[in-house]
Amino acid sequence: MLPQDFIYALKQANPIEGVMSSYVQLRRAGSLMKCLCPFHSEKTPSCVVYTDTQDQHFYCFGCHAGGDVITFIMQIEGLSYMDAVQMLAERAGMTVPRDAQGNREAERRTRLLELNRTAARFYYDQLRGQDKRGLVYLRDRARSPQIINKYGLGYAGDSGFSLCNAMIAKGFTEDELITANLCGRSQKSGRLYDRFRNRVIFPIFDLRGSVIAFGGRTIEKDGEPKYLNSSVTPVFKKGHNLFSMQFAKKSQSKRLILAEGYMDVIAIHQAGFENVVASLGTALTPDQCRLMRQYAEEVVISYDSDAAGQNATVKAINLLRAVGLRPRILHMHDAKDPDEFIKKFGPPAFRVLLEDADDAMTFELERCKTGTDTDTEDGKIAALQMAVAVLADIENDMQRDIYLSRVAHDYGVEKEILSAQVDAELRKRRGGAKKQAWRNVQNAAVTRDPVNPDAVSHRREAMAEETILCYLFRNPDMLEKVQETVPPEHFVTAFNKRVYTYLSEQLSKGYTYSLSLFGEDFTPQEIAYITRISVDLEQVEINDKTVSDCAEILNAYQADGKKAEDLDNTEFSAKFDALRRKRT
Ligand SMILES: [Zn+2]
Repeated sequence: MLPQDFIYALKQANPIEGVMSSYVQLRRAGSLMKCLCPFHSEKTPSCVVYTDTQDQHFYCFGCHAGGDVITFIMQIEGLSYMDAVQMLAERAGMTVPRDAQGNREAERRTRLLELNRTAARFYYDQLRGQDKRGLVYLRDRARSPQIINKYGLGYAGDSGFSLCNAMIAKGFTEDELITANLCGRSQKSGRLYDRFRNRVIFPIFDLRGSVIAFGGRTIEKDGEPKYLNSSVTPVFKKGHNLFSMQFAKKSQSKRLILAEGYMDVIAIHQAGFENVVASLGTALTPDQCRLMRQYAEEVVISYDSDAAGQNATVKAINLLRAVGLRPRILHMHDAKDPDEFIKKFGPPAFRVLLEDADDAMTFELERCKTGTDTDTEDGKIAALQMAVAVLADIENDMQRDIYLSRVAHDYGVEKEILSAQVDAELRKRRGGAKKQAWRNVQNAAVTRDPVNPDAVSHRREAMAEETILCYLFRNPDMLEKVQETVPPEHFVTAFNKRVYTYLSEQLSKGYTYSLSLFGEDFTPQEIAYITRISVDLEQVEINDKTVSDCAEILNAYQADGKKAEDLDNTEFSAKFDALRRKRT
């Protein structure tokens, strides 16, 4: 376990407000701060950041995410506890004290990165070797030698064993080759074989410039699959990185171009636009959008002009908007993708295309017309109905009015009539939203939390336990007295019992209470549950008397077994709820 002094210093050096504000826009609300939750999609802020307490934390009343600054980084960056601590330490210029196990873990990662780097070098040399098919493929597609070098492109030939033989000769083990996802093991012969064969190789770099994975495109005419990518390894998480981000992040433009694949990215980069990225062999993810948000304000989506590309565009627009990026859409004529467009019309024309990119609203309004013939009355009505839904999505009144005028003019209808339609749609949605919110509350009451499933059938015991825990969070020096009143084995729900036991151990070892105490041994979901306990009871006064009343409930449950269960469950709940409502 990391020394508590270090964690304390780490959190002092990384105030939650400063860290969170590089991912979300925080707004002050009295003594608290609020933001749109980065962990679920929402339009009004329900994520609260408690900055005024000793133990800074955040909690989302919508999706129940919560915890301290370390939990936040684990969640948003998809990191393990140690990696999150490492990242925060780097941010503050601190060094993490390591124990033996931490060292082994770090060594293993270093070895894998070393293997990836060596493999990338091997593929790079192969591209220039006797078998010229990879180089010919790239030259046929007009990739310049400079750009091939810059991206460190490589080639995997026909042998099927050359990489594993070369790497083993360099001292890497079979296990390492399999873990790095570079080789597989044949079921029949038990021999290792190369995963990449007859492919142009695209090494994938992280922001620090380490090779973390590979993508390979087949050079054979009907080679399957067309693209083959590394799967998850200890140094590569899918959906977290973007191809070419190591170059794009250096661009000062606050604008990124989002392309569909490796070859497009390289074509656009070669044409002089370094600020281009692509998601890696998967559909765009929220994590990738948050990564872009750190470097840009605007993203120009330049996917293929076919139906699949256009559908992906719609999804990307929503994901980009959800993290506060301004999406724009490249409107390509006479070319199926940016690669072809640049070849046909040249880089200056592509620059014009970028400047003329449609805003997302125009794209969505235009899309309403696809598949319908707007010259007929029926077609026009169908398209207008879709346009009404798009207009109702615009939150800003003034913006909505501008687009409303445009659509009315475009379709040749009275603005007032269209406006009435949009208002009706908005009213319908508000009603629906209220119903949905109520349904969520009802569902939450029944399903509660997978973290502590026992709480559903033992509601009053769970509430009693959580009140006792909250008292301990506030008064850790009262531990002995609380333990005398209610021993851990009297706790009924498994998760609360675990929290109580763990807390007792840590406190009696002399640790001071903070949420971080749970960091290493509890998952972010579990820490969110613990955060909720104190957030829920925040305004409730808990004294010795409350604790002994709660202890009474638990002790009685143990003495009477399950008989006390339904005795005055409803009555107790009602009382408890009344107590909670008495907020100051
Ligand atoms: Zn949330």
